[in-house]
Amino acid sequence: MAEPCIFCQIVRGEIPTQLMANTGDCVAFRDLNPQAPTHILIIPKKHMASLDDAMDGQVLGKMLVLAASLARQEKISRTGYRTVINTGADGGQSVAHLHLHLLGGRAMAWPPG
Ligand code: 5GP
Ligand code: ZN
Repeated sequence: MAEPCIFCQIVRGEIPTQLMANTGDCVAFRDLNPQAPTHILIIPKKHMASLDDAMDGQVLGKMLVLAASLARQEKISRTGYRTVINTGADGGQSVAHLHLHLLGGRAMAWPPG
């Protein structure tokens, strides 16, 4: 049997998770293993494995607008932040449900590892 998708389980409330946002299309919650003082994941409610499978530009746009709104809520807009979508093996994607990382609260290095 196929492994259940953990992010779909979060959307359905099967894994108790404090949501930071719950809109028509998206939910947002804090990363379990934060890589910065603010580390939030923004995901579409509808399952899509990665950016490579994301054909809905409206949902992608809503994810970015929500990220900016959460950055203001977290008070990191002025200092800056990073938004990241890892795609596939070389991109470092470990959960096969599209997600946008919002990272902030510290200075980020470039290039990424
Ligand atoms: P990726 O490496 O796929 O870009 O990011 C997946 C992220 O999901 C990782 O940063 C990881 O810490 C986070 N993560 C994995 N499982 C869970 C979970 O059950 N709950 C939460 N809140 N985050 C998770
Ligand atoms: Zn899923």
